[in-house]
Amino acid sequence: MKKPNENNSRREFIKQSSFAGIGAILSTGMAPTFFTKGADRASVPAILGGEASWSKRKWPQWPEWNAETDEEQLLKVIRSGVWSRSKVVSEFEAEWAKALDVSRCLTVVNGTNALEVALAQLGVAEGDEVIVPPYTFIATISAVLANGAMPVFVDVDPETFQIDPDKIEKKITSRTKAILPVHILGLPADMDRIMKIAKAHDLLVLEDACQAHLAEIDHVKVGTIGDAGCFSFQNSKNLPIGEGGAIVSNNSEFIDRCFSYHNFGFPYGSAVGTVGSGSIMPGTKVRFSEYQAAIGLAQLKRLDGQTTTRNVNAAYLKSQIKDIPGIEPYRLYDNVTRGAFHLFPFRFKEDDFKGLSRGAFLKALRAEGVPCSSGYKPLNDQDYLNQAFQSNRFKQAFPKNMLNFDSYVEQNECPENDRLCNNEAVWFTQNMLLGTKSDMSAIASAIEKVHANAEQIKNSNK
Ligand SMILES: *Cc1c(COP(=O)(O)O)cnc(C)c1O
Repeated sequence: MKKPNENNSRREFIKQSSFAGIGAILSTGMAPTFFTKGADRASVPAILGGEASWSKRKWPQWPEWNAETDEEQLLKVIRSGVWSRSKVVSEFEAEWAKALDVSRCLTVVNGTNALEVALAQLGVAEGDEVIVPPYTFIATISAVLANGAMPVFVDVDPETFQIDPDKIEKKITSRTKAILPVHILGLPADMDRIMKIAKAHDLLVLEDACQAHLAEIDHVKVGTIGDAGCFSFQNSKNLPIGEGGAIVSNNSEFIDRCFSYHNFGFPYGSAVGTVGSGSIMPGTKVRFSEYQAAIGLAQLKRLDGQTTTRNVNAAYLKSQIKDIPGIEPYRLYDNVTRGAFHLFPFRFKEDDFKGLSRGAFLKALRAEGVPCSSGYKPLNDQDYLNQAFQSNRFKQAFPKNMLNFDSYVEQNECPENDRLCNNEAVWFTQNMLLGTKSDMSAIASAIEKVHANAEQIKNSNK
């Protein structure tokens, strides 16, 4: 049999081996060597001493940096001595707004603060409830708590990894102020449905697009569909600056208030207050700096091309692994015109891998030279919530029964999310999707190899 990455025989091979049954081949006394000619070492899983499927052991570096094209503006900023917020920050904000086709953008120190500031200026406050998905990074939830509001968890659709719109309405109460959908993993949430629900119940929508730079629904960029959207420019994110964040919106008056708040509450734009007054609102200081903006402008130049590469590679990788029994790649909603693919997710089904655990699968895959992780842990039953509930702020804002942690945990159960977190989810990081087509084939071969040898790997207890 030919190596699958030499031609397009992989799909066929998978079909053959699942129809004929791997057992049938094994019973002829052949070694389980489906991927290479004969019983050479390449067919033995690396974790059992075989050769790794992907032995280059070098994935595209992240973040990318090119001294020639990227350093001129940064050096200019550094040498100018103007390091605090000024023209370059404004330029970056204008460029990011343009890239998203949204009227306004305000940068802040990071994505977490973007969410905190946006929620505050949308008017989310003590005593409110905010609907959130449990399958997210902790910052989504901590931004809600930071405003004295109660996160209400709505379970995910495991096929898309996104908040399940079917389950939102059941969770709306008289306290619900906003829905906070997260385009998690860089895959768009079902915004059509979410916006309809929000409209029907007069709720605000803040999009956490911290992983979803340039993702689109019907050619509209995510982060610009709700009342406001938030982005992160942390080092791992698709637009990396080290640290940084942005709030975007078509509501100019809202962005003016965010600006004022992010700069000590000083007057800004339409948020001018009385002439001669100092601060017009209680504010803080979470300003972006000029050298961050200069790095952002350099990174922004490559974002569109990288996003295209990630989309092409993700689609190809998905096509190469979707027929492997026990591997269920992400599904995009029908109206998604572009993903951001901050991560490439699939679900791993232990039963189709002869009972091999996800942990053992990940270890075997890593041995093949393919970095992977199990992703998020559940956030909806953790003690940080209880600690917030026990604060004076929460005790004053909510009735006692709402702060009972045991009943909170019970009301916020998310069994689909638990299964993703605890048993099924597997991620590849976005930089791997910047590799070549043959890198993607190598990932698929590695998964196939682990699948074909699942029983041996399991019995080896490695
Ligand atoms: C990264 C991230 C944040 C927070 O962004 P920081 O810039 O790290 O503060 C918020 N939400 C999600 C979904 C994220 O991935």
